[in-house]
Amino acid sequence: LQAQAHECRNEPATTTDGHTIDVCANLGNTAHTPDAVDRGADGIGLLRTEFIFMEHPEAPDLDTQVKEYRHAFDALNGLPLVARTLDVGGDKPLDYWPLAHEDNPFLGLRGIRLSLTRPDILETQIRALLTASDNRPLRIMFPMVKDLEEFRAAKAIVERVRAEIPCQGLQVGVMIEVPSCALLAHTLAPEVDFFSVGTNDLTQYTLAIDRGHGQLSAQSDGLHPSVLQLIRMTVKAAHAHHRWVGVCGELASDPQAIPVLLGLDVDELSVTSRRVPLVKACIRGLSREHARGQAELALSKATAAEVRDTLEVL
Ligand code: PEP
Ligand code: MG
Repeated sequence: LQAQAHECRNEPATTTDGHTIDVCANLGNTAHTPDAVDRGADGIGLLRTEFIFMEHPEAPDLDTQVKEYRHAFDALNGLPLVARTLDVGGDKPLDYWPLAHEDNPFLGLRGIRLSLTRPDILETQIRALLTASDNRPLRIMFPMVKDLEEFRAAKAIVERVRAEIPCQGLQVGVMIEVPSCALLAHTLAPEVDFFSVGTNDLTQYTLAIDRGHGQLSAQSDGLHPSVLQLIRMTVKAAHAHHRWVGVCGELASDPQAIPVLLGLDVDELSVTSRRVPLVKACIRGLSREHARGQAELALSKATAAEVRDTLEVL
């Protein structure tokens, strides 16, 4: 299967009943873009931009960032780039951005909450992204958003920059990582262009299990029916407003989860580059009708273990 998957990597991931899913790559460094394209990725579904901020002793200036993002766009040859704005704070501090001690950093100043305390840094990043895009397909998304108020505050910065640097086809979206956003997806959907489900954090916050916890992490399973319910709510709300939904957490490359996500009508999966060919091959072997049955089955269960026992292993 591996050899065949590699051979067909540049073919679209189309199910046996003719439904195509985009399979994109998650990158933590723009230098890896050519490799992702070579492995058949339909774009970058998650650029974790933290690396640019961590590599420098101070906040990277506009030119430094433009250069980085340009690398990615140049290698993508017109394929889309979904860039996540800076997602640090709490457990991932930056030397030049001192933060007060927090007892619960995962519930503290993280992601967009932190960025909104320094709108100048967020604005520079957005300016760099729009400049580098030069009308190539750019999608910007914000991490750790909890509700519409935070999204509006962040989007206002994008609109301000966009008034100066027009960017054709720019899409602005929200990561679904906090359960409140999935529960209220119907309030966000009219104002976003897309959602991208970060199942790593969504699982952590839904099950109240630290994602890096040595003893508990085995129980932190994105196939938990509660997480699946939240994904279903997100997709239903998005599609009611003709918005697309991606999944960019680890769950998107889990062979048992792929049919379920397909059955929940997700439009895009974004996975580690080296898994792109296999995920595409896996989708080509499925029908959407069968996948919908798998999703219904999973949603009828009470625990992640029950879900895993019931679902077939591809
Ligand atoms: C996630 O939370 O699922 C995600 C994709 O973001 P990160 O793993 O970078 O927190
Ligand atoms: Mg996350």
